[in-house]
Formats: sequence, C-alpha cells, structure tokens
Amino acid sequence: MSDLENIHCYKCKSDQVWNFATTRRPNTSEKTGKICDQCATHEAFLDMSDNIVESGLLHREYSFFQLCCGGKGKSGHERFLEFLQFRKDNGKNDPSPKEIDSIIWQKMFN
Ligand SMILES: [Zn+2]
Repeated sequence: MSDLENIHCYKCKSDQVWNFATTRRPNTSEKTGKICDQCATHEAFLDMSDNIVESGLLHREYSFFQLCCGGKGKSGHERFLEFLQFRKDNGKNDPSPKEIDSIIWQKMFN
C-alpha cells in the first residue's frame, strides 16, 4: 500500500505524484493549490525574478490565475492584476499591465 498521492497539477496541466508543494498564489482550493515540484521551483524563480516577462513563465502563470484563482467576486484576471500590483509594490520591474496584456494576447492568437 502506497501513501503517495497523485494530483493534477494545474500549473503545467499534467498528472503528477504530489510531493507536498503548494502554490503561493491566492484563492486556490485544496485541489488546485497542490502543484508539482517543478512548478513550485518555477514559481519561486518567478517570485525572485525582476521581470515577469523575462522569467519566461508569464503565460503559465497567467493561465493558472485564470483557471484557479478566480471566484468570490473577482475573476482570475483581476487577481492576476492584483498580483502584478503586488510585484510592483515590492520593487519589481515588470512591464505595465497593459503591455503584459498585449504580450499575452499576441501569444494566444499567433
Ligand atoms: Zn506542475
């Protein structure tokens, strides 16, 4: 009998053996908050990164917010904007939310 728990990691959208990593992103559920080790490492890297676009993880992060962080009167997109503001308040040098929106949309429709 194994005590390993299999999860669906909503950051990389794959099934993984859970190694007790949880996301630091807001408003996730018990189910969506469990992430795989690799995504936990990526998340830490992004949080240290000075520029969310240059981190190379923008689209995965945005998709996760859209999918898992909405609810209770706020959409995932609104929570993503709050996340960008939080980063800015902490001295990060991300592009403006408008520029980031444009980068996300370009990727989705190209
Ligand atoms: Zn993952």
